[in-house]
Amino acid sequence: MTTAFYAPPEQFRGGRVMLPPSETRHAVRALRHRPGDEVVVVDGRGGWHRVRLEHTGQKQAMGTVVASAQNVGEPEGPCILAAGVLHKRSRYETLVEKAVELGVTTIVPLATTRTERATIRHDRLHNLMIAATKQCGRSRVPNLTAPCSLAQVLVRYPQLTAFCCHESGEGRAALPAALQAIPASTGVLLAIGPEGGFAPHEVAIAQRAGARLVHLGPRRLRAETAALTAAGAVALHRAG
Ligand code: SAH
Repeated sequence: MTTAFYAPPEQFRGGRVMLPPSETRHAVRALRHRPGDEVVVVDGRGGWHRVRLEHTGQKQAMGTVVASAQNVGEPEGPCILAAGVLHKRSRYETLVEKAVELGVTTIVPLATTRTERATIRHDRLHNLMIAATKQCGRSRVPNLTAPCSLAQVLVRYPQLTAFCCHESGEGRAALPAALQAIPASTGVLLAIGPEGGFAPHEVAIAQRAGARLVHLGPRRLRAETAALTAAGAVALHRAG
């Protein structure tokens, strides 16, 4: 599978697409595409298009859509990853990039009691998400929300089956075992704490809101490892 190009919906008109400048540079200068070449262009909203390039200038590339499909590479149901913002920006960037590959549909940065820094660089993360979407063969760029609390995220998505990943607590199931009990297309919400974990009152809030406490095995994982392991468990559950 070759890497797709990205052009937002407004770049498509009358069966044609104009690649944005950065995508044009990549297509024409780096990959040396020429008129007649066929490429894949995704619009980030689920549109997947096979495009025959007609004009490949250094500044502008344009092509004709020859075939289209919807939601190529997209999961059957929503998977909301609510993950504590991490002190080290690069770790959170890794988390976000890989979460896109694993089929997460929305990323909610959590500001929790033990979060050391509750701000994100939204544009930078969104650009990473676009790059990951193209690279892994998805057609929809997942949503990235503003930071919010665990309580807020749980009331925002009451229809989803919520799992709160926590490293301690009696009688918790392992996430893969808990997933076995629900159909693969069920919408899920995964809550992951920051470096310092969730505070006890946050765990209580999650449980009161109907979230199930689950574990990810006997070792204490770093927050980004935990988030990606949880997202991977959902991806594999959906893979059948
Ligand atoms: N509170 C811990 C570390 C938190 S790890 C401490 O400092 O001792 C960060 C987050 O990763 C946790 O809030 C939890 O959501 C998740 N996590 C890490 N290991 C886990 C495990 N074995 N099971 C479930 N969740 C885990």
